Amino acid sequence: MAWYPNATKYELQPESDSQPAIRPTQFILHSIAAPWTAKRVYEYWRDSTDLESHFGLGYAGDLGQFIGTETRADANYQANRRPDGTGAVSIETASNTSATDRWTDEQVERLIRLGAWLHHRHGIPLRICRTHNDPGYGYHRLHEEWAVGGTICPGNARVTQFREVVFPGIVAEAANPSPPEEDEMPIAKLHESNAFDVELPSGSWVGLAFRDAVIHAGPRTLIGPLYVQLTIGDAPQGTRLDGRFYATNPDGSSPSGYGDLTKWGAGTHQFLHNVDVPAGKHLRFEVCATTPDGSPVTLIHRLVTGDYVAS
Ligand SMILES: [Zn+2]
Repeated sequence: MAWYPNATKYELQPESDSQPAIRPTQFILHSIAAPWTAKRVYEYWRDSTDLESHFGLGYAGDLGQFIGTETRADANYQANRRPDGTGAVSIETASNTSATDRWTDEQVERLIRLGAWLHHRHGIPLRICRTHNDPGYGYHRLHEEWAVGGTICPGNARVTQFREVVFPGIVAEAANPSPPEEDEMPIAKLHESNAFDVELPSGSWVGLAFRDAVIHAGPRTLIGPLYVQLTIGDAPQGTRLDGRFYATNPDGSSPSGYGDLTKWGAGTHQFLHNVDVPAGKHLRFEVCATTPDGSPVTLIHRLVTGDYVAS
């Protein structure tokens, strides 16, 4: 089993576990004759047919992988798995319904990078397949043994693109890899919780520590919302809970709040934050409980979580 690290994994079962192993020696490109995302291609394989490709590629460059590249996928007839155990890795790409349009720039770039990875990972030689079982790169209609009853796939425009842009691009990329894509920046997960009880006096702001008082030391780019989850024990009816994310200098000076978020009553509440943390700033959180009778409430659990990139 091999999974391409730059594809979203949509594993197709039972095929992924039940189909036999292959030694991949070819990469065959297809047009699916539908303007689908990679995820929609996955759903089609899962719900509507026993066939499948290893990969699916949407117009926007969204790339999904459905089966490991060392497992048979059934998109290329006799090339799926030959008697000697070799077989083809296949990709279905979004196209118009008659498969007459060109690959988008995003698709071309992804095909080139994936093609180069297959060369490095599996040793697929950098040539266009000269016969149906010759190791190398090709497109569906290149050899009749690859299609039951013949096919136009992937369409004339894309055959031209394959020969003029995609395959030469794979050769160049394999020799001289491009720098990593921005979306390959490592995503880190913040997940800190604290179950020590904290008494919150009514009407006073209290800074909260999770692992410590600083949630993030900038620069940090948030990937999706950051959220703080607070669980309040018994609290009188009408208790108001204000939460506030705020930025400070590293020494805690110059606090600047992002606006108060108000929740009501006992139980568990979430406070969301969506603003990146600039360099030289620390992100913190504070809370203020206000009870109608002025009694304190007890914070019994607190958690902060969210994905981020350290830049
Ligand atoms: Zn095809």
